Amino acid sequence: MNPIKYQFSESFAAEMDAKDSLSHFRSRFYFPKVKGKEAIYFCGNSLGIQPKSVKDYLEKELNNWADLAVDGHFHGEDAWYHVRKKSKPALAAILGAQEHEVVAMNNLSVNLHLLMVSFYQPTKERKKIIVEAGAFPSDQYMLETQIKFHGLDPADVLVELSPRSGEFTLRTEDIIAEIQKQGDSLALVNMAGLQYYTGQLFDMKAITQAAHSVGALAGFDLAHAAGNAVLKLHDWDVDFATWCSYKYLNSGPGNVSGIYVHERFAERPDLPRFAGWWGHDEGERFKMEKGFVPMYGADGWQLANSNVLALAAHQASLDIFEEAGMENLRLKSEKLTGYLEFLIGEISGESGVLEIITPNNPAERGCQLSLLIHHGGKEVFDEWYNQGVVGDWRNPNVIRLAPTPLYNSYLDVFRFAKILEQSLKKFA
Ligand SMILES: *Cc1c(COP(=O)(O)O)cnc(C)c1O
Repeated sequence: MNPIKYQFSESFAAEMDAKDSLSHFRSRFYFPKVKGKEAIYFCGNSLGIQPKSVKDYLEKELNNWADLAVDGHFHGEDAWYHVRKKSKPALAAILGAQEHEVVAMNNLSVNLHLLMVSFYQPTKERKKIIVEAGAFPSDQYMLETQIKFHGLDPADVLVELSPRSGEFTLRTEDIIAEIQKQGDSLALVNMAGLQYYTGQLFDMKAITQAAHSVGALAGFDLAHAAGNAVLKLHDWDVDFATWCSYKYLNSGPGNVSGIYVHERFAERPDLPRFAGWWGHDEGERFKMEKGFVPMYGADGWQLANSNVLALAAHQASLDIFEEAGMENLRLKSEKLTGYLEFLIGEISGESGVLEIITPNNPAERGCQLSLLIHHGGKEVFDEWYNQGVVGDWRNPNVIRLAPTPLYNSYLDVFRFAKILEQSLKKFA
């Protein structure tokens, strides 16, 4: 799969950077500093760094607001009334969807709820939801309260999948076996596409197929997958999904989420939904009349008019993704994360300090590696941070490192390895 013969040497890393056709994108981002020095930033899984172009995109809209005020909604090519359309081509490419299947709106947790309103319709017989154990807290709270909203008990509804004993991640065969076991009682599989804690990328195609084969739906939270893994939501037949734009999509803290709804639901006014005026038939919107008529496709789930300034920052980043191309990013990503994995293995090998729990098969992960810390606990993390490494610590004992292909280099990975080598002397 990955025929490179990696080496633990600065010249090797420099040579890999020299051969990297995406290396120039690095200079289009601002890197944060730790203790006055440019950080080794491996935290794009939590908050992507700022593209230098964001200021210009924002300034343009600030000027439009200053010069046009309310007329900005309908003025010229960039009329705010249609602003949601601008991000569709790039989002469609990132998600592997048709343009009408995606729309940028709200925030992720809000969208999880809105999608559940439409796609979780429990009946007496069919009410179960399969989710991975240890899902992100917001997803857990969402599921718990959605189930209670239907007057049901989460203990009777949720089927939480845990790895086999002694293993850290789920096997696809076990996920599928559970779907088949639940059969007619299963309403929905609602999992992460890429698990935030372990870094495992699930086989969304196989899971969706299995869910459909028992008459259930499949939806995914792509917070850690969007802009990280190559996605083909439409071809995989996934029913619905949502994501956020501030992690791998570098659109700024708390910036807009988006939803994907498969084409087969594009004209389903009968589906339950919580509507707002922005999801209503665009041509009739300003008639201000009674009777909700949803727009075609994902747009029909919009509630409120778009946050233009937020979308401007989002667009700055999406334009970079379009230029780089998801497939190219992924090719580099496998090599870059493979290099990190190689160096961690070389250096920490038998030390017993840490262990990688993310699958070693590139097809089952994105760029993130999750390290289970056996010795030293959070002190290991603090030591690395003091040396300029920005990763993140997740309780109880995991450090996540995400070398992103868009702005990280092989030299970043090498420099981290030198810091790891030093720190092991302390903790082994
Ligand atoms: C980051 C993340 C969230 C965050 O939700 P917001 O609504 O954007 O605050 C939710 N779910 C998952 C799986 C995440 O990784």
